[in-house]
Formats: sequence, C-alpha cells, structure tokens
Amino acid sequence: MIQMQDVWKTYPNGVMAVNGISIYIKKGEFVYVVGPSGAGKSTFIKMIYREEKPTRGEITIDNQELSKMKERHIPYLRRNIGVVFQDFKLLQSLTVYENVAFAMEVIEEDKETIRQRVMNVLDIVRLKNKARFMPDELSGGEQQRVSIARAIVNNPAVLIADEPTGNLDPETSWEIMHILEEINERGTTIVMATHNRDIVDNMRKRLIAIEGGRIARDELRGTYRYEG
Ligand code: ADP
Ligand code: ADP
Repeated sequence: MIQMQDVWKTYPNGVMAVNGISIYIKKGEFVYVVGPSGAGKSTFIKMIYREEKPTRGEITIDNQELSKMKERHIPYLRRNIGVVFQDFKLLQSLTVYENVAFAMEVIEEDKETIRQRVMNVLDIVRLKNKARFMPDELSGGEQQRVSIARAIVNNPAVLIADEPTGNLDPETSWEIMHILEEINERGTTIVMATHNRDIVDNMRKRLIAIEGGRIARDELRGTYRYEG
C-alpha cells in the first residue's frame, strides 16, 4: 500500500529532515508516527501525500511510484489520499455540507452522487443534523469531524492525519479516535502523527518512531515513550 525505499529529504535551506527511511505499510493498517519535535514526522507524512518531494529515494502508493507520476495524475492521487490537520482547515464561508461537497465537486462528480455521498460521510462522523451549520457554529471536535468527513468523501485508500487531536480536549480526542478507528475498520489505511501519549498507550497500534529523520522504532503495539 505505502512503501518508502531509502527516502531522504533535505530542504532548500540545507536542513536534513529525513535521512534514509524505508518502510512498508500494508492495506488496512493503522499506524502512529511519533517522535520528538523536529524529528521529521511532518516531512515524512507530507511526502506520502506529495506536499513535499523526496530529495532521493522512492515512494510507492498503491503500486504507483510518486516521482514517476505525471502532474496531471496528481489530482487522482489526492483523491486516493485523504488528509486531516490539527487546525481543521475548513473554509469558514461555507456550510458543513459545502465544505465536504467541495472536495468532491473539484473532481467533477454529478450533484446527486455528491449529495448522497456527503450525507453518508456526515452520518459516519455523526453530523448529519448539522449539515447547514457554519464552521464557527461548531465545537472544535465537531469541526474536526467535518474535516474527517471531507477527507473520506472520495473514499480514499489512505487517510493521513497530522496531529488530529492536537487542539482538542481529552474527551473530544477520544471521540475523534473512535471515529478514526471505525473508518479504519471499514478498510481505510490510517497513518497518524501524534504527541498524544494517552491515546497511543491506550489504543495500541503499530507505532513508527522517528528521531533525527530516521526510524528509531517500528513496533506492532508500541508505547509512546517521550516526554510531554
Ligand atoms: P516534526 O513534524 O517531527 O516536528 P518536521 O518534519 O516538521 O518535524 O521538521 C523536521 C526538520 O525539518 C526540522 O528541523 C524543521 O525545522 C525542518 N523543516 C520543516 N519544514 C521545513 C521547510 N519547509 N523548510 C526548511 N526546513 C523545514
Ligand atoms: P437524507 O436524504 O440523507 O435524509 P437530506 O437531503 O434530508 O438527507 O438532508 C439532510 C440535511 O442536509 C438537511 O439539513 C438538508 O437540508 C441538508 N442538505 C441536503 N442537501 C444539501 C445541499 N445541497 N446543500 C446544503 N444542505 C443540504
């Protein structure tokens, strides 16, 4: 599903963020990415959804080598990878419904397909009754649920989450985790960068620890083991 072979990333300013990472993530896995601040977690994750390109090495998603992919095929890759951020990144001038539908409309689906699919994913995140609300009328947890709905609306094979609970209180964080787990159980591969010790240690999953741009640990049911 996701494969990296000796991947390196040096930013234009000379910072060596990722220094020789090789991993294989199977279809349907749920993987935490942990490590100290500045370890290279975000860079690692951004290379999966092609926000950053590796300086060296190969990344294959669903048997497609990213560096060999033509520019015009990138939208199709994006459709197959949903992304959830710490700060939600919702469009403030659009309703809940429109924020989710927008992600589909950009790939030119017809209106009825969009409506059914949007209501279906709003149901999965339990927000069907707030379809007409604006983002600023929602709690943080609800906004994150909208962003999850948006990320899965095209039924992607992979869901990437970069600190999805970073701005949420513990109870709300657990709600989000239960929704992510449900999405994973429906077959979506999930890769989630997190600093949340409570979640990592209580909802054990495969854990990849990155330190200094390298894999420090790769454990089937790992624990957090960092300060803070
Ligand atoms: P983490 O997510 O683990 O905190 P990052 O991948 O964000 O780590 O950062 C790894 C290193 O790369 C850090 O030293 C950071 O300052 C640097 N870095 C991250 N993004 C950029 C960028 N766009 N340009 C230059 N350096 C960057
Ligand atoms: P269902 O048929 O799945 O029950 P509905 O069509 O009744 O879904 O819609 C449920 C909620 O979503 C209602 O609040 C409805 O007004 C809203 N909604 C449905 N379609 C749209 C749309 N195109 N734009 C904005 N809100 C919509």
